[in-house]
Amino acid sequence: MKSNGKCRYKIRGGQGHMMLHGRYPMGWLFVLLVIPAGVWAAEAGGGALVDTSRSPHVRMRNVDLGAVRWTEGFWAQKFALCRDSMIWSVERGLLDPENSEHLINFKIAAGLVEAERRSTAWSDGDCYKWLEAVALVYEVTREARLDALMDEWIEIIGKAQASDGYISTEIGDDRAGRLQMPHKHELYCMGHLLTAACVHHRVTGKDAFLRLARKTADYLEGEFRPGRVELAHFPWNPSVYMGLVELYRTTREVRYLELAEILIGNRGQSPGGGDHRNGGTDQTQDRVPLRKETQAVGHAVCAMYLYCGAADLFAETGDVTLLDALRRIWANVTSRQMYVTGAVGAGGGVSVRGDPLHEAFLGDYELPSRSGYCETCSNIGNAMWNWRMLSLTEDAKYADVMERVLYNSMLSAVSIDGERFFYCNPLKWTGEASGPTKHHTAERWSVHSCYCCPPQVARTVAGLSGWAYSVSADELWVHLYGGSRIATQLTDGTPVSVEQESRYPWDGRVVLTFRNRPAKAVALKLRIPRWAEGATVKVNGRKVEGVSAGAYATLRRRWSVGDRVELELPMAVRLIEAHPNVRELRGAVAVMRGPVVYCLELPEKQGGKRVWDEGVFLAEKVRFGSRFNGKLLGGVTVLHGRAMNTKERDRFREQRRGALVSGDSDWANRLYRRFEPSAAEGAAMGSVDIELIPYFAWANRGVSWMTVWMPLAR
Ligand SMILES: [Zn+2]
Repeated sequence: MKSNGKCRYKIRGGQGHMMLHGRYPMGWLFVLLVIPAGVWAAEAGGGALVDTSRSPHVRMRNVDLGAVRWTEGFWAQKFALCRDSMIWSVERGLLDPENSEHLINFKIAAGLVEAERRSTAWSDGDCYKWLEAVALVYEVTREARLDALMDEWIEIIGKAQASDGYISTEIGDDRAGRLQMPHKHELYCMGHLLTAACVHHRVTGKDAFLRLARKTADYLEGEFRPGRVELAHFPWNPSVYMGLVELYRTTREVRYLELAEILIGNRGQSPGGGDHRNGGTDQTQDRVPLRKETQAVGHAVCAMYLYCGAADLFAETGDVTLLDALRRIWANVTSRQMYVTGAVGAGGGVSVRGDPLHEAFLGDYELPSRSGYCETCSNIGNAMWNWRMLSLTEDAKYADVMERVLYNSMLSAVSIDGERFFYCNPLKWTGEASGPTKHHTAERWSVHSCYCCPPQVARTVAGLSGWAYSVSADELWVHLYGGSRIATQLTDGTPVSVEQESRYPWDGRVVLTFRNRPAKAVALKLRIPRWAEGATVKVNGRKVEGVSAGAYATLRRRWSVGDRVELELPMAVRLIEAHPNVRELRGAVAVMRGPVVYCLELPEKQGGKRVWDEGVFLAEKVRFGSRFNGKLLGGVTVLHGRAMNTKERDRFREQRRGALVSGDSDWANRLYRRFEPSAAEGAAMGSVDIELIPYFAWANRGVSWMTVWMPLAR
């Protein structure tokens, strides 16, 4: 256990880049990085959602809350849905006695209500996540009722907090019960308190929630800094790492950063016991120290939060052993363990090192569609991790994964009306009322036996404008396309203001117009997704050379007011195949258009069972037409095509016997690639008219038969 008051990071001392190597006493760190008292208070009301504005080891910085506004189009609509529906449906869920997570527990713990607490152990954390979502909506709307709503709950939370800063509505006053069982999720809950409090402080400028958070962090420091061996096995639900780093960023108290380092260093140091409740197992990413790990293992939500926390820690310390580990694990996830929707966490089983697993990464190429666990929280965690990796590296491959999650396995978690939610996001459903676990449901719900996912979606959608752009000294980076306006400063203080217009992802055209004249040459960095081969860029009508897919196009010049950049992303429908080691997906293809994964959905009410039973097979040269339907599922582009039923497929198979099927060479460590039909394939298309809808919009029309992967007629 690394608890001897020493740490192992390299420190860059502000702009001077003073490098210190090797092991230094914690006290030195404090002397080097301490910020005069009072500075944190002076910064009230500023900062980014994940505030990297002073992080020495990011390559690009997140923009402050308020710098970006969605104006129209896809994400503007989703934000409006969050503002008008999601935060309120989550509030109703958290107040509903039938639900698993309850706001009222804070009133009970505060002594304001006499009742018996009912909830999961992780209930408090999900309430904090909801408050974070409310704060992010308030940041845009400035509605007084939201401010008052937050104040009301923060006051109650304060009353529920013990005088020493500990807070858990489940453990309550039972001091002997504290930090005894990782599975009680105390660090998960308190971690989300820290994050929500930082966001609330940045949005409102108020200190009440932040004061509670500091007390909580001080309590945790008192428990974990002394390095008690019996606490080494406390890895469960590592959202506290992100929370501690964010609290450091908000307060500049280096103690909180050190505590994150201590907790991440505890990984793999546990005496173990062969079960996730006492650590030392792959289930909790605690068998192998993070810095030595080579693959994603264990509980997928915990894994993602661990990787996010480690990325945050690297952003502050520059400890390359963390970044190296994250790169290795990322390569494993994206080439072996990620669904085509960006979802992660295949389910339950046994790890490669023999540990029992649940809600977890199962191993290389184990990606079952129907039983896939694909928890909303882990999917979003994957996006959060990739967003962080992008800012650390400038590598567009991370933005591709981030976008893959956002349009697919993140949005699938919420109904089109913003009222109901999914916990599991499997890639196949065959008409059942329920699935392989109680969290696999045929339709979304408004209350559930585990309610971690709804506030996770709400806070992500609420804050997503903060993910769309980044800045550096002379660059403005555009990561997400959609109608928006940004008015911010580059890191050297140069003001930049740009307006973006786009109907993306339904349309591949994006227009960016400068609304100010920056005082120096600035590079506009446009993300060209990996799938967008053939994308074109024009500046004031003149084509730009050297635009390549899977990279950022760099447009550097002295910009003037009204300068216009036009990006055209090709939106042709693509067939995707999976690596043949994913046995279940051999001979099947998925369909994508732009960043959107499509699915075949056959609602029960529309006779879906009959069509499903008769079989749906795609010809290799299947063609899809696309059409935007504003009246369907909140307005989506649907794909129309023809497929074969089983009889037609059998006839086709007879005719093409002996023909070659497409080759399986050159996977180049990829898990998915564009499918190329074999030359010998004929043009048979079949007689079944099919309509594909975006995967995220499935299960809004009652119980259905649904699949992302469709078998080829072979
Ligand atoms: Zn969840």
